[in-house]
This record gives sequence, structure tokens and C-alpha cells, in this order.
Amino acid sequence: MDYEFFFRESLDSLHDEGRYRVFADIERHAGSFPHATHYKKDGRSEVTVWCSNDYLGMGQHPAVLNAMHEAIDRCGAGAGGTRNISGTTHYHVLLEKELADLHGTEDSLLFTSGYVSNWASLGTLASRLPGCVVLSDAYNHASMIEGIRHSKAEKQIFAHNDPEDLNRKLSELEHDRPKLVAFESCYSMDGDIAPISELCDVADAHGAMTYLDEVHAVGLYGPRGGGLAEEQGVSHRLTVIEGTLAKAFGVVGGYIAASTALCDFVRSYASGFIFTTALPPAVAAGATASIQHLKSSSAERELQRRQVAKVRAQLDNAGIPHYENPSHIVPVMVGDPVVCKNITDCLLDRFGIYVQPINYPTVPRGTERLRITPSPIHTDADINHLVGSLSTVWTEFGLQRTTQRRKSNAA
Ligand SMILES: *Cc1c(COP(=O)(O)O)cnc(C)c1O
Repeated sequence: MDYEFFFRESLDSLHDEGRYRVFADIERHAGSFPHATHYKKDGRSEVTVWCSNDYLGMGQHPAVLNAMHEAIDRCGAGAGGTRNISGTTHYHVLLEKELADLHGTEDSLLFTSGYVSNWASLGTLASRLPGCVVLSDAYNHASMIEGIRHSKAEKQIFAHNDPEDLNRKLSELEHDRPKLVAFESCYSMDGDIAPISELCDVADAHGAMTYLDEVHAVGLYGPRGGGLAEEQGVSHRLTVIEGTLAKAFGVVGGYIAASTALCDFVRSYASGFIFTTALPPAVAAGATASIQHLKSSSAERELQRRQVAKVRAQLDNAGIPHYENPSHIVPVMVGDPVVCKNITDCLLDRFGIYVQPINYPTVPRGTERLRITPSPIHTDADINHLVGSLSTVWTEFGLQRTTQRRKSNAA
């Protein structure tokens, strides 16, 4: 076989569809993020990042950076081993305590990323529970899907955020079979929020475990940043809460929070936990500092909400179509992969605005979009520049505007 030909041909088909992924090469400016330098073929330029998941700017927070510097100076760079073989430092132990406290659970377990935490935890639970059936929300993240697939357990997909469909599917299963209901709290591409309590009601009625991915909610929702389950007062109802340290907490790593026995079970059986080097101690120290800060400070969350509302109001005034949702994510709908890519190229090259185009398979075909994530570190001037530039681009590309404005703006 001509392997090289195969690779090139496969890539050509991505180009033809307009969904070949091009990474923007950027250098974040600690202290003035979301501003960054964009490295191009022919030089560099200054840009404002509008698509970061460092939702609150904690990736440059002095408390986080100080904790990381201090840990590097004390312990050096890497952990030096798996958790079992010399890689468990005191920073890891403290972080796991902090996470259990954040979610009000008995224990927690750290992984090298949120992806790995979903893949390893769902894979291990679903494969080891005899005869387990996994009920998976139709919009679940790739990391959950891959974990479930890896487990080889039976899987049933229930309609997105639909407790009635979940109930129907669970009703058809034998009562004694182990069941695991897996879903997210805030879905990252549409920014919609799950009916957590209703899904728990249904799961409870059928004796099913619940597994909630709070990756896009931890740090952002709830009085202590414990996520949407905390905000809605339902943390205690979930069997497993899964989260990341890489998004609102601004560092890297993933975790589950659950009972002592469940965490110990995953710790003891999950290949994706056991056979990989522990996170660097400085990463654990930075994440702990970030969580601690956001437990006691709501200033970042409040300012983020204000800036999100400003972006939405200005988009409405400009007639730029965006998907309404109750979260911090602002999806601006385009609906075509090539146009989506051209718009973002134009925003980047001419206006210094970096928004990555979101195409299939991250979102369904025909729903290609710009996913804008306003943060407390975007200024009002940044917002004016964003919406002004989008408006110019909308005219130049002849894109449709919405005529219906929100009541609050029409008044
Ligand atoms: C980003 C993401 C993950 C993976 O988290 P990482 O820490 O980035 O690996 C898991 N679930 C969802 C819903 C995500 O969006």
C-alpha cells in the first residue's frame, strides 16, 4: 500500500469539505490576556482571543502563578513517576482533598486531563460492572463516547436533555441490571444546560448511577464554583461528578469526585489512571490555588456574566444571529463550513480578532459556527471592537441578519 498517498488523499477530502483544521499559532501575554501575539508565515500581529476556555483568566492569576513558581522551586519540574511509583506528591494529595471539598463528596481522583478522566472512569465503571448498560445523552462529548465504547458495555443513547426519553429507555431494561446514566451539565457548543434534577429523578427511580460531566461549569457556577450541580443544590444526587482543571481553573488536568469506594475502585482498576505519569507537582499546586481562589471569590464569575450579557445585547443590536442559551457560551451561527472559515480568517487577518471556526464533527453539519467565550478580562472596548468587526464582516459576506431584537433592546 502507498501509505503516504492514503494520508494525503484523506486530508484532501477534509480540504474539499472546508473542514481541514488550521491551528492559529499564538503566544498568550500573561498579565494582559486575552491579548496575544499571532505568529504567521510572514511575521506576527497582535490579536484578542475570543475563543479561549480559560473562561475567567485564571491562567494568568497571580495566586495561580505564584503557587506554580513556588512548587517548581521546591520540587522541580516533573512528578517523576506514576501515582503508584513515586509520583504522588503532597501537592496531589492536597488537590484531591480540595476537589472533594469543592463538590461535597467523600473523595476525588486526579487524571492527566478531563478527556482521560472521562475515558478512564466511564471505561472502567461500564466494563467492570457486570452486565452494565450505559445511557448516554445524544450530545455527549467525544471523551465520554470513547470511554463508553472502550468499555464494550451495551450503550443506549437518549434524546438530548430529555428525561422522558431516558425514562422510556430505562423502563425497557431489566430492573436488576447495573445502569449508568452519563450526561453533561453545560453543553459546550450550544451552551444549553441539562435538567440535572429531573434526570436524577428518573435515574433514581430505576436504580441507575449518574455520571455528570461538569467540565464547562466548574469554577463558573455555584457560590463556590462547584458547578451547576452546586448552583442547583443537587451535588449530593450525582454518583460521579467529573471536571477539568484546564478550563475555568486555567491550568490542566481532570478528575472525578465521588464516594471513597468508587474513587478507590477507579484508582485500582483504571488503566488510564494507573499506567501514566502523574501531573507535575506545580500543576497540582496551581490548580489548588485556582480552586481555592474561586471558592471564596465571586468577582470573576459576576464580571464574566456582565461581559457575556454585553456581548449578547450588542450582537442583538447589530442583528447578528446567535443561539440563545442560559450559559456563558455565545454561539454565533453561520451554517456553512467554508464561509465559517473565511469569516474567521478575515477577523484574524484584518481585525486582530481570533475566533476559531467550529465545524463538523465537533458540531453537526449545517450548524457551523463561531463560538465566542466572553470573560471578565475582556474589556468593554474589546467587546465594541468584536461586534463592530463582526458587523462589517457580516455586510461584506452578505450574511443574513436577524430582524427580531430582544425585548430589552427594543424598548
Ligand atoms: C474539554 C472537554 C473535556 C476534556 O477536558 P480536558 O481537560 O480538556 O481534556 C471533557 N468533556 C467536555 C464536555 C469537554 O468539553
